[in-house]
Amino acid sequence: MKPKEGLLILLSSPSGGGKTTLCNRLMEADPNVVRSVSCTTRPPRGNETEGRDYYFLAREDFENRIARGEFLEHAQVHGHYYGTLRKTVEELLAAGRDVLLNIDVQGAAIICKLAKADPRLSRLLLSVFLMPPSLQLLEQRLRKRGTDDEGTIARRLAEAKREMAHWHEYDYVIVTGPIEGDYRRMRAIMDAERCRLARLSFKTE
Ligand code: 5GP
Repeated sequence: MKPKEGLLILLSSPSGGGKTTLCNRLMEADPNVVRSVSCTTRPPRGNETEGRDYYFLAREDFENRIARGEFLEHAQVHGHYYGTLRKTVEELLAAGRDVLLNIDVQGAAIICKLAKADPRLSRLLLSVFLMPPSLQLLEQRLRKRGTDDEGTIARRLAEAKREMAHWHEYDYVIVTGPIEGDYRRMRAIMDAERCRLARLSFKTE
């Protein structure tokens, strides 16, 4: 039996922690898995594209959308707004797609709180924290990416330390390593959760 709605997969890690690579690998392997494209007020990096990586918005536009209640969650990260559009997530879940939310620990905490008061969301929600094996490795990755200056790297590392302290708020933790290993673990978690969702749907029918 196929579950009617998809999973809402909350994936957090500090900046440079490998979320984007893992999201891309998951989507490449399974066309049912899709990433919810977030809105942000941060400027695009080198090869980022509007509508594929983010919707890049002016601060005023973002704040108007907050006021209109368009975001399922939003947060300020590194001085910029980031937010998940409610409509996007709802439409994808209703279509049976598994929706990846690549969001920070503040946004994740908001979604987990919403799920506590909403049995449907709670049923669909799966939260996973990608834990870098060490801060040194994270620093190497941020440098290798070559998109941030020294000040930004230092800020992101300090932020990473604070974010890593939240690992225990998630359903699962993956200590990250080579991408194929991370991918296999994530698939195993998703497959198990799909079976759990199918079992819950079966019981309530
Ligand atoms: P970056 O600027 O490196 O793309 O993202 C910075 C941080 O913002 C990352 O931890 C990323 O997961 C988070 N982020 C991206 N989109 C959203 C969102 O819609 N909501 C929240 N709360 N965080 C987000």
